[in-house]
Amino acid sequence: MQHQPGDDVVWSAAPEDWFTGRARFGGQYEPAHEADLNVLGVSFEPGARTDWHTHPAGQVIYVLEGTALVQTEDGDRVEAGPGDTVHSPAGEVHWHGATSDAPMIHLSITYGGATEWVGRKVTDKEYGDQ
Ligand code: MN
Repeated sequence: MQHQPGDDVVWSAAPEDWFTGRARFGGQYEPAHEADLNVLGVSFEPGARTDWHTHPAGQVIYVLEGTALVQTEDGDRVEAGPGDTVHSPAGEVHWHGATSDAPMIHLSITYGGATEWVGRKVTDKEYGDQ
């Protein structure tokens, strides 16, 4: 058994190239085996969000604090609160982030390879359609 106390988690800045606003990664779990499971916490300050992206085998987001905004390219948009999960299927272009007035933390669960960034920021207009 391996226990990592929350106080020991090192949070590191998420790359500006792939995020708008301030976001951090923490609590990452990356076992070295073929399942390629990737579990990490992602903390967003108010207004922060990812760029548009996909996941090769999809993603499950589990919201821990705040309200997560998750939107797909075709305009579907959800607001997910603590305890909610949001599943994005493989290859679906989407973004996720905090609301403009409160921070948000979610757990990200993926496997099958790294996030694929499609090279577009979420504009203030796209973000503001809430
Ligand atoms: Mn995602």
